[in-house]
Amino acid sequence: VYILAIETSCDETAVAVVKDGSEVLSNIISSQIETHRAFGGVVPEVASRKHVEVITLIIEEAMAAAGIQPHQLAAIAVTQGPGLVGALLVGVVAAKSLALAWGKPLIGTHHIAGHIYANRLVAELKYPCMTLVVSGGHTELVHMEQEGKFRIIGRTRDDAVGEAYDKVARALGFPYPGGPHVDRLAREASEAVTLPRAWLEPDSYDFSFSGLKSAVLNVVNQSKMKGLTPDVAAIARGFQESVVEVLVEKAIRAVRSTGAKQLLLCGGVAANGGLRAALMARCKLEGIELIIPPPIYCTDNAAMIGAAAYVKWTHDGGTPLDMVADPGFSLEKWSV
Ligand code: ATP
Ligand code: MG
Ligand code: FE
Repeated sequence: VYILAIETSCDETAVAVVKDGSEVLSNIISSQIETHRAFGGVVPEVASRKHVEVITLIIEEAMAAAGIQPHQLAAIAVTQGPGLVGALLVGVVAAKSLALAWGKPLIGTHHIAGHIYANRLVAELKYPCMTLVVSGGHTELVHMEQEGKFRIIGRTRDDAVGEAYDKVARALGFPYPGGPHVDRLAREASEAVTLPRAWLEPDSYDFSFSGLKSAVLNVVNQSKMKGLTPDVAAIARGFQESVVEVLVEKAIRAVRSTGAKQLLLCGGVAANGGLRAALMARCKLEGIELIIPPPIYCTDNAAMIGAAAYVKWTHDGGTPLDMVADPGFSLEKWSV
């Protein structure tokens, strides 16, 4: 089963052809990061316009790279939400047009289900499993009792972890997106500033990163007031240690309490070297099977959308053509 998948929820125009939800035949990503960097973040209007400019070309490129003809496709998948509504619309309109023109079913796909099922591109999943989702807009622990059934047991109460990384990076003087800069600094640093950990209630799987972010801003401002240059490396390391410790602890506890057979990691922050290393070490110690996709499948891409769409397709078939882009699309409701 060949699925053409389209992803335009944020600032990447991405198209992929995926076979059986696990074999990537092509995976084309056109990033707008350079365009948005000047503004210090993603500008929704600009994102939509850029998607419109390149989407047709990226679709052609993905089909050509896969060596697939339209008649060979089983369906067209597209990210229906969540994301920026104007950006989502571009992908949804393109997918509907192709579905009509080529007479193929449409599969409206959930973006976070995509991030989760990126793991299916690199390993066979065993259920029940637990996923730690760490992206620019989401920080969640998602339990899957069976294939395609999502239950969110913990989520952030304020900032997403990627968002916190980007804000901290900005305070430390790095350009958007700052996550990779903080990651690099943290690993190079010889010492760490001590910063708080937000554990919340003892039994909670929820997260909070805004207090930590404020603590970082305080440290930066205090040294500036004293006329000193902030030790950005030590701050980055302190921040990363706090984030990683809480994420790892809660993910491990979630695996233990639900009897999950695997722990999956996904989302852009899954590219973080400190988090990957800490999770690998801890899972090895605890005898937990850990799956982490390579960085190219962690940040936004369409191959992951093809993987999630395949799961939905095998259980529920296609989505009616009158479906609409939904910026607040619910993961749990998208369950098969
Ligand atoms: P969502 O999927 O929640 O809608 P998104 O698609 O914008 O959000 P992703 O593309 O999954 O987010 O991830 C982007 C985020 O990942 C950015 O905040 C970026 O700073 C962060 N990120 C990328 N690499 C790293 C890294 N090495 N360390 C920390 N953060 C990182
Ligand atoms: Mg992005
Ligand atoms: Fe994403």
